[in-house]
Amino acid sequence: MEAAAEGARVYAAAAAVIDGELALAPAIEVASDGTIAAIHRDPSTIPAALPRYELGRRLLLPGLVNAHSHAFQRMIRGATHRRRAGDPSDFWSWREAMYAAAQGLDPAGVYRATRACFAEMVRAGITCVGEFHYLHHQVDGRPYDDPNELSRQVIQAAADVGIRLVLLEVFYARAGAHSPPLPEQRRFCDGSIDAYLARVDALRGEGVSLGLAPHSVRAAPADALREIAAYARAHGLVIHAHVSEQPRENEECAAEHGRTPTAVFAEAGCLDRPRTFTAVHAVHVDDGDLRRLGGQHVCACPTTEADLGDGIVPALDHRLRGARLALGSDSNAIIDLFQEARLLEMDERLRIGARICLAGPDESLGLALLRAATVDGASALGRPELGRLGVGAPFDAICVDLDHPTLADVGVDAWLDAVMLTGTAALVDQVYVGGVRRR
Ligand SMILES: [Zn+2]
Repeated sequence: MEAAAEGARVYAAAAAVIDGELALAPAIEVASDGTIAAIHRDPSTIPAALPRYELGRRLLLPGLVNAHSHAFQRMIRGATHRRRAGDPSDFWSWREAMYAAAQGLDPAGVYRATRACFAEMVRAGITCVGEFHYLHHQVDGRPYDDPNELSRQVIQAAADVGIRLVLLEVFYARAGAHSPPLPEQRRFCDGSIDAYLARVDALRGEGVSLGLAPHSVRAAPADALREIAAYARAHGLVIHAHVSEQPRENEECAAEHGRTPTAVFAEAGCLDRPRTFTAVHAVHVDDGDLRRLGGQHVCACPTTEADLGDGIVPALDHRLRGARLALGSDSNAIIDLFQEARLLEMDERLRIGARICLAGPDESLGLALLRAATVDGASALGRPELGRLGVGAPFDAICVDLDHPTLADVGVDAWLDAVMLTGTAALVDQVYVGGVRRR
């Protein structure tokens, strides 16, 4: 679906979250280039000559930012919930099902699976996705004629659906300490850090929005992490990595390095620059890890972490130490950042035995959770211009239907908390990306 850009225009809504605050009856003026030119709170300042779109009883929110996705994993949605004889039904046996799906994809299959996933994301109000992309080569590990063939399929799928993409190019080298990749991991592996960075160089030269993604301390040795940190520093790129998702990962890391995964990333220089590292999951962390991640981002993926039995992200502890919290749909078994945001809070209530964990005194919890689903995700992806509705920002916006049965009879003061703490993606009925309507 190729939607045409439009000329300058004005959108009027019942309410909007503008630069982090709820505004009633605003009118948002969008320039012909798709950026927000002005926000009118006084109707007399709206240029009369501009076409005006009345959004009615809708709450405009910034487009949601999904900071961690593996699009193809959506293919095994619903297919991993039957216990087979001898199956321990844990993270590692789920991984076998995921690897089997990964083996079966040719370039056209990667495109189809990714496009279907991204299309569902747009429907759910996600306007930017960080795709943690590790399917790179042929099944036996040989590169395609173009070593970036599968990255290009992901880029094309995003372009065709109209979602913004930050391609988090994964470096993957081994099955674990001193062990070569398993046969089913060969297509994730470039063979050397130089071959990996050559692929990144090529994509960077084409202007692709990128981040570097050493998969985990299990899959990336320490010398590669140091090279990745240096390259990211030299080119101003963010780094994302899976960190302490499972206890076994920590045990193997302690055996190899004598320290935690977070400490290994820190030692390699991945955490040297503030707000450029994103620890995905960061579930099984100690006090030193919390301190090291304090100036960075933690991306929680609560529905996936629950599905895989990972554990609960100690979001309150991360927040109090100064980490920004972002959200990801990760395995894409569920694509709904409202659910992710709510679980981030609710899991903490279950863990701690208290209410209102992720907002300070007199702070709106709905706004705090919306921040995780928007600006802080954008910050994690190195795209600070996204995730907000404000002058100069692209008009990436979603409409929440205030007449939806979930929100019927909810008062104005409770709109945002009701959306974030009781709503789902089913509330979203219009989606704009860069001023272009995509739903
Ligand atoms: Zn992941």
